[in-house]
Amino acid sequence: MREKLKALAELQKVDLEVASLRKAADVHPRQISELERDLGVARSAIEAERARVTDLERQKALLEQNIADEKDKVKKWEGRLSDQRSTREYSALAREIDIAKKGILTQSEELTDKVKELATAREAIKSKESDFATRQQSLSGRMTELRGKLGEAEGQVKSLEGRRSEVAAAVDATLLRRYEVIRKKKLPAIVGVAAGTCQGCNMNVPPQLYNMLRTTLGTDVCPSCNRIIYAVEALQEKQPAADE
Ligand SMILES: [Zn+2]
Repeated sequence: MREKLKALAELQKVDLEVASLRKAADVHPRQISELERDLGVARSAIEAERARVTDLERQKALLEQNIADEKDKVKKWEGRLSDQRSTREYSALAREIDIAKKGILTQSEELTDKVKELATAREAIKSKESDFATRQQSLSGRMTELRGKLGEAEGQVKSLEGRRSEVAAAVDATLLRRYEVIRKKKLPAIVGVAAGTCQGCNMNVPPQLYNMLRTTLGTDVCPSCNRIIYAVEALQEKQPAADE
């Protein structure tokens, strides 16, 4: 009885190890995709800044073109001033020239602001790009590390699975079948009963059942959680090991 129990406990040890490895490995793909998302956000921020620079450049070129056109116009009008026959026509044209010059002044001020804005935006891109490069480097290092860990865990699981079939071969067939059914729903599937309490569900097992487990050193089923149970004394080495 005790040997059957020991074999099954050994199998569960392997299963628990596999489960904990899988759980730990689960975190890695999630972390990797989080890192990739972070990097994507940083990249979009740079692209938005670049689009802003393009827009500012377009506005700047437009202002420069307008100023040049206005200056040409003023020059042409100034050339015509002396051709004006009446004082009325002369002063009308002079007023137009004055208005155009004021317009040029306003647009020149706008242009100066635009140039400053462009310089600031270009600086912002530079600093964002350098941030991005630093981040990308550290993230790619972290990702390599995570992928390595993932691969390592997968390798460990594989080798444990190989070991599992060896261990499972030593387990009593009926007990193994029952264990496999429970294992699919809950792990641990086999638990000890200590001082009358099932360690799977923390409920007391009936005293009669507990006594029986202690006497036979075998297994039964917990009436509360349906796990396979045994008296913890059964796996304690102080038992006379006459069979070993
Ligand atoms: Zn239980």
